[in-house]
Amino acid sequence: MIERTLILIKPDGIQRCLTGKIISRFEDAGLKIIGMKMKCIDENFAKKHYTEDIEKRRGKFVRDKLIGFITEGPVLAMCIEGVNAIENVRKLVGDTEPRKSMPGTIRGDFAHVTYDYADGKNVAVKNLVHASADKNDAENEVKLWFSGEELHSYKTVHDVHVL
Ligand code: ADP
Ligand code: MG
Repeated sequence: MIERTLILIKPDGIQRCLTGKIISRFEDAGLKIIGMKMKCIDENFAKKHYTEDIEKRRGKFVRDKLIGFITEGPVLAMCIEGVNAIENVRKLVGDTEPRKSMPGTIRGDFAHVTYDYADGKNVAVKNLVHASADKNDAENEVKLWFSGEELHSYKTVHDVHVL
């Protein structure tokens, strides 16, 4: 039941100075940050993160834009742990298309654009965060971004009051 998942605050979230607010969403829900770092990634690394799976689901156009976007500035990577963390984090993040993300979610509260708008401007949808989609992705993505020594085990008040 206790899972680990990967979150990235994408370059738009960093440049809009929303990192603190975004991190708080996960902490407020009682999820535990067990690893965190800021990193600039190159195209090669970005392709390992946004694998060919994206191309199959969204097309080459979207993958190329996405790789350009994620490499344009530093991102903040976090490994988050908690009960059903993968699903719970996706719930806090909201729908991929900000237009459809519900208020209360990160994407719903801090963005509003549509696929059509992004496609018209020839850019990736700027939706602030990446979150692993499922167990398989979470395992691969945590391994890609963090070494074993970069992940930490400690107790929070949530271990007493939330779990
Ligand atoms: P999610 O990030 O919600 O898991 P996907 O994995 O399907 O969504 O897509 C990865 C990212 O690609 C999205 O977060 C978004 O930034 C971008 N994206 C998806 N579809 C489009 C699109 N039609 N046009 C531009 N960017 C897109
Ligand atoms: Mg995804």
